[in-house]
Amino acid sequence: MNVKMTNPLRNRVAVFLCTGAFLILYSLIQLVTVKFRDGIFIGELNISATTMAGIFSSLMVFVCIFMTCIDHIRGSVAAYCLLGIDLLSLLIQVFVVKNTGVLPSFPMVFVGLFSVYIIRRQFSALEMTAYTDFLTSMLNRRGVVHEMERLIDKNISFYSLYIDLDGFKQINDNKGHKIGDTILCTLSERLGTVQNHKGFIGRIGGDEFLVVIRTTMEAEVKRVADECIRLLNEPVSGGDDKEYSVTATLGCSLFPKDGADTTELIKNADIATMYAKNLGKNKLVFFNDSMSADIVKQEHMEELIKRSIANDYFFLVYQPQFIGADKKLRGFETLLRMKVPEEGIISPAEFIPAAEKSDLIFDIDHYVLDRAMREFAEPIKKAGCSYMLSINISARHITSPDFVDDVKQAVERSGFPVECLEIEITEYCFVASIDDAIRNINLLKEMGVKIALDDFGTGYASLSYLSKLPIDLVKIDKSFVDNIETDETACDFISAVISIGHILGCKVISEGVESEAQLDLLIDRECDYIQGYVWGKPLEYSAALGVAGA
Ligand code: C2E
Ligand code: CA
Ligand code: CA
Repeated sequence: MNVKMTNPLRNRVAVFLCTGAFLILYSLIQLVTVKFRDGIFIGELNISATTMAGIFSSLMVFVCIFMTCIDHIRGSVAAYCLLGIDLLSLLIQVFVVKNTGVLPSFPMVFVGLFSVYIIRRQFSALEMTAYTDFLTSMLNRRGVVHEMERLIDKNISFYSLYIDLDGFKQINDNKGHKIGDTILCTLSERLGTVQNHKGFIGRIGGDEFLVVIRTTMEAEVKRVADECIRLLNEPVSGGDDKEYSVTATLGCSLFPKDGADTTELIKNADIATMYAKNLGKNKLVFFNDSMSADIVKQEHMEELIKRSIANDYFFLVYQPQFIGADKKLRGFETLLRMKVPEEGIISPAEFIPAAEKSDLIFDIDHYVLDRAMREFAEPIKKAGCSYMLSINISARHITSPDFVDDVKQAVERSGFPVECLEIEITEYCFVASIDDAIRNINLLKEMGVKIALDDFGTGYASLSYLSKLPIDLVKIDKSFVDNIETDETACDFISAVISIGHILGCKVISEGVESEAQLDLLIDRECDYIQGYVWGKPLEYSAALGVAGA
């Protein structure tokens, strides 16, 4: 059944061959008149004008069916025309010329008309099935692509508006596919109402829709996008007596500006959607060329990260942190480096954001946790746990359910003294999922791990949240330190940030301290610890051990 539906060409060939065989046989029968003479059957060749007209009609029917099989829309129109003309000429022969010898040709013309009608209907039905989404009865991906190709063939400009429902996977995973399907059907029905003479809509993936709008006006696309968002945001029943609220992310591309074929247009609309995701929910972004350059860069970076994991191109450096008052070692911050043979050393500022956009960040965090604790387990124990080892963990990983177990296992594998371990988190983990972040941070604290809040002041976390979190250390971002020598406001600001850190019950460290003047000011303002080039750049493992006195 499936093969037939997905391969209408096979049906066309079968119909064509059967009809061909039947008509050739029919013509041969017409050519030969069979007679019974002297007790035996004799075949006689019969090439009268009437017979030839009959054969010609048969051949024409054959050609008409052939054309309908090749292209059931245009072919059938041409076939109806030909058969119509044939019928007209036969009627003229009978009623005007009074030639009744052509009467036997009539059935053949009617057979032709009927066959063309049946074949066209059959193929239209097959095409409908192949182009229709089984769940929502909308166009499916093939159908949307087919319709887009028709516009491209006619060189008609249009926008492809990609709609990606946010977090629909969670609804499916948590509530089951039945509820997910019910919601999808309702949403599809609603989206169907934005369809008008200027376009069409289809479901091109699990929770992805594509609206095609025949326009070059951004304002019109925005209007349709707003309407789609409004329709999707309205509460929807899942069939389980509960109402769900759905948001979406939208991106769009324009033919021919953003792509010459359907693959490129859909890909670029999808890329724009990825950008829209970074802006929050219910946002629309129009594709531009710099976005695909970013994607190429992202793909390149992901490739390098995978190669670095496979070939051990990663290594760690350790930047010392000192007590401000007496310049004694307070600990080390672990910083990751990637050295790819043909590219040299690549900064984490480049590859960490790329890793965070993919799941590779989990591999990276595992690598750093494991490696750093293995390298420092013995030296730190030998030093009587007199200093700390800080490890940066991505916001995405902090909020993941496996994170605490990952840390536990790394601690067990390495034998690292857990009280010397500090995890650096950023305020972005509260944006990602505040409840998961708080739960994991509390579990880490119970294990005895210290928590440092990195890049303090650059994120969005509110002070009331921070006061409830068991944070041990606040790290003032380099951007606040940069101007304190010259800018009085910056200096007052950093004093205030140090005070807030102390009010929250934390120690405070400034990072990116580069000059003696900055150092003096920070110590004067009671900053507890100092990290920066002024007292120590990131060091390779052996050099760091030297600083630790091991
Ligand atoms: P961060 O955690 O804020 O790290 C501090 C960055 O400031 C480091 O850059 C460090 O080398 C740099 N730095 C420290 N003192 C000075 C200074 O006096 N002057 C200047 N100009 N820079 C200074 P780095 O190593 O390039 O790391 C950049 C960012 O990459 C880090 O920012 C962190 O967000 C991320 N990162 C680095 N290593 C890791 C890692 O192992 N795991 C994760 N998840 N992220 C990491
Ligand atoms: Ca850090
Ligand atoms: Ca930082």
